[in-house]
Amino acid sequence: MTYSATLLPDLIKAIADTIDANAEEVTALDQAIGDGDHVINLQRGITAVLGQAEELSLLEWPEAWQKIGMTLMSTMGGASGSLFGTLFVAMSKACNQHALDRQGFAEIFNEAVNAVKKRGRAEAGEKTMLDVLVPVADALTAASAETDLCEVLKKLAVTAETGVESTRDMLATKGRASFLEERSRGHIDAGAKTSQLMISAVIDRLLKVT
Ligand code: ADP
Ligand code: MG
Repeated sequence: MTYSATLLPDLIKAIADTIDANAEEVTALDQAIGDGDHVINLQRGITAVLGQAEELSLLEWPEAWQKIGMTLMSTMGGASGSLFGTLFVAMSKACNQHALDRQGFAEIFNEAVNAVKKRGRAEAGEKTMLDVLVPVADALTAASAETDLCEVLKKLAVTAETGVESTRDMLATKGRASFLEERSRGHIDAGAKTSQLMISAVIDRLLKVT
């Protein structure tokens, strides 16, 4: 991989900005079919990671991802805290088996998404963050041999947006939204939305240095 962890302060700041800019919209989504605290949970985690940004930028990716994951787990509440935390810790762990090149990163991200599935006992199609994470992981695998990295990044952003929209008509079968049963239909899932916002923020930033 041509990117180094010195990018992390910029990436984390970009993530913080996009979540702040969309906080009201995401809160409304979580109020409609959840308990409304998703953005607050996430902002607590992001603020903690932002506080470690300089320290993180001195680490290699596996160590940085491990630290981010642990910080998210220990500072965020809600289902999303342990799930986003698991994503980063599992990415770190997967580095033992895979190189940090394009193909290796696709494997690393796929393993991490599988760890989130296991942790939440959920699959894509249940109206959660997995409806963004799984298609993005699949698209990364499909694109691992493509030569034009900018095109790959743009495609991933579109995949994440399609994933968010796909949650609108789904029946929620996991998390708080599942308590609403059929009434969960017609609303976008908050965790899918924040996953897309964060992925798109990272992609926008990477496009500037690619
Ligand atoms: P809580 O639901 O505990 O209040 P948050 O509001 O922070 O936690 O996060 C809710 C989001 O977490 C949902 O929008 C959904 O995307 C995600 N989520 C909840 N349960 C699961 C699960 N079992 N698997 C995957 N994602 C889940
Ligand atoms: Mg909530």
